[in-house]
Amino acid sequence: MQRPDPETKPLPVQARWQTQLAGAIRDPLELCRRLGLDEAWQDGAEAGHALFEVRVPEAYLSRIRPGDPADPLLRQVLPLGEEALPTPGYVADPLAEAEHTPAPGLIHKYAGRVLLIASPACAVNCRYCFRRHFPYEENAPSRAQWDESLEHIRRDTTIHEAILSGGDPLAASDRQLGWLVERLEAIPHIKRLRLHTRLPVVIPNRIDEALLGWLSATRLQKVMVLHINHANEIDDAVVGACERLKAAGVTLLNQSVLLQGVNDDADTLATLSERLFEAGILPYYLHVLDPVAGAAHFDVGDDEARALVEGLRERLPGFLMPRLVREVPGEASKTPL
Ligand code: SF4
Repeated sequence: MQRPDPETKPLPVQARWQTQLAGAIRDPLELCRRLGLDEAWQDGAEAGHALFEVRVPEAYLSRIRPGDPADPLLRQVLPLGEEALPTPGYVADPLAEAEHTPAPGLIHKYAGRVLLIASPACAVNCRYCFRRHFPYEENAPSRAQWDESLEHIRRDTTIHEAILSGGDPLAASDRQLGWLVERLEAIPHIKRLRLHTRLPVVIPNRIDEALLGWLSATRLQKVMVLHINHANEIDDAVVGACERLKAAGVTLLNQSVLLQGVNDDADTLATLSERLFEAGILPYYLHVLDPVAGAAHFDVGDDEARALVEGLRERLPGFLMPRLVREVPGEASKTPL
């Protein structure tokens, strides 16, 4: 009998996303080399990486045009020297989350819902991330910490929605997530489970049987908010992942961040909305950048943002229009612009 070639034998489904996650590029020079970026980019990549490490999985890398420093996907993940420039008003915790943490790993900011840090890791490190300075080591989830968070949720009957965030919640194992969701659904006043994740986009085969198993089984209504900023992020594998999620009863929404050099023109945003809808995802929010230290070069001014949205309105039906919002610390909800 012929033995399977270890080089070509498919990995077990369960191991595939984990292997990709573990094998993500974490060296800025390797990222430059793989994408054919010359030396001019390498010093900046190393300087930015020293502040917030680079992380790009192969499945995402494959959607980036080699040799093009202006590629909108590359812009989101390539560290730059500008990240080291201090900018007035840009701070480590722009949303003042530290003031709303009743238990480690739990953020309770808005009425009726709480956010649990389900994983400190991400599959990709986005340079504009408002949590790029988040003290994950103080908030890294463990079952003991989740027990404390669950107790807070049990005691407060006004909480109806549990939001799993991170990092990226889907970077946690299905065993951990299944454990957590079982306990959440045992709390009678919890109706909804919301996940904020980029994993189905950056490593689409994260949406595998094990994940769909606990997701399909829960009595909770399920909402997944994908964070997609450009239509080029949605390839056939992402569409397949979305189909599997919808078949499991998950409502798919998208929130984007308005980013200079990535999606700051009306045609690009219109194409994104169209492509999202084709993949079964409703555009939901278009966020202006949170002023996090190291990301000022992504900022788009408020007047320009409003003009872009007006341009978008001329191109799209109302149901494909994301709401332009800003998160203001201390406000009871997102603030429309
Ligand atoms: S939390 Fe979201 S935006 Fe931030 S690095 Fe992770 S995937 Fe990117």
